[in-house]
Amino acid sequence: MGEIVSKFGGSSVAEARQIRKIESIIRSDRRRRFIVVSAPGKRTSGDEKITDLLYSCQSLAARGDSYEQPFRHVSDRYLQIDRELEARSEIQEWLEEVRRSLGSGASADLAASRGEYLCARLLASYLQATFVDAAEVIRFGKDGSVTEESFQLIAERLAGPGLYVIPGFYGSDSVGQIRTFSRGGSDVTGALVARAVHAEVYENWTDVSGLLMADPQIVRDPQPMAEVTYREIRELSYMGAKVLHEEAILPVYKEKIPINIRNTNRPDDAGTIIKAARKLQQRAVAGVAGRNGFALLYLEKFLLRKDPQTRSKLFEILTAQGIEWEWERAGLDSLAVILPETQLEDKRELLVGLIAEALKPDHLEILDNVSLVAIVGEGISDHPELLADLLLLLSSGGVRVRLVEQGSSKISAFFVVPSKDFNRAVDTIYKAITLQRGSRQLLEPLLGK
Ligand code: ASP
Repeated sequence: MGEIVSKFGGSSVAEARQIRKIESIIRSDRRRRFIVVSAPGKRTSGDEKITDLLYSCQSLAARGDSYEQPFRHVSDRYLQIDRELEARSEIQEWLEEVRRSLGSGASADLAASRGEYLCARLLASYLQATFVDAAEVIRFGKDGSVTEESFQLIAERLAGPGLYVIPGFYGSDSVGQIRTFSRGGSDVTGALVARAVHAEVYENWTDVSGLLMADPQIVRDPQPMAEVTYREIRELSYMGAKVLHEEAILPVYKEKIPINIRNTNRPDDAGTIIKAARKLQQRAVAGVAGRNGFALLYLEKFLLRKDPQTRSKLFEILTAQGIEWEWERAGLDSLAVILPETQLEDKRELLVGLIAEALKPDHLEILDNVSLVAIVGEGISDHPELLADLLLLLSSGGVRVRLVEQGSSKISAFFVVPSKDFNRAVDTIYKAITLQRGSRQLLEPLLGK
């Protein structure tokens, strides 16, 4: 029987009634034996995340100020959960330990990790499961990456029968100090555990019924993705879609373990499956995503393409100024580079001066406030007409597309558009790619058919 790793995010452990849902999810499938938890998140939009409160406690304590007030919020949350669940755990004692460590110079990582630690202990006690401290099994090497040894340690500690609860978000370094992943890192813990136990599925329980094809803040009611590949997810999140923690893909990708994003509040919904390959007949494009805050540097110089030295001079200048460019493409007599706007800031004039002097371009301009809007899908390269159709649709809708790029990745293509047109571009593209019969249908009125 294959086994399942079930990771529950902050909203799924935010309060007692959510934890009861976890209990029924776990009890409804005996393969769900390994539970990874985040720290309690927000119960309402105005609420505070336990992790944030713990960071505040630590910074107050480090300055020698009283951390009583935020710590009381932390304690109250756990005490209330324990009381409402009638868990009768030793939460008072565990909280006291945390309070003491904060008072005796706990690092920010140690303080923040206690959110997951307390949550996992409490849940293990409630479910009568075995608690396994992540600090004992997830080890960071000197270079900051998780060591191979960790997989063996996890597998050994989880080898017995019954249920296990493991706190997400942290491990320990080579000298035994607690270290956290970056924010949202419980996703990574779940993936590491899934790989270590060779899970059949890595379930990632959250408060949405799967990943959506577009940002719901831009597009009304975007459709969920039933299936999406690891590669597509990586591209989508790179292009700005909010999905899993970036580092959560690699461990499961290596073992081809599918990730199933599910909704704790609607456990019957199938959610989204992230896996190695998907059926393309249903949909060539997986989704649309985008990022704001770029500038487009455009340079013209006769025979530029034949002159790699001039091109490399430009990149030397950018590197020397500490500017990391996002993308570049050379034409016959021109070069376009996309730069993050924040990195330009006060360097703009200096940069223009340096480039003008070193490269002597015929023309140089920096276009501000541009955004990238990308379509991502394993089937894109089989549909060369798609990009042309989308371009036509965007322009006829008044979006002034500055640049189109397909090719550097077979599964994604992007448009550079003025930031003021960003939302319109995302919405237009979403509508086109979700039409079952292809975007031609949208174009018919335009083409006069
Ligand atoms: N609790 C941590 C955070 O808020 C980690 C996580 O939830 O995954 O970032």
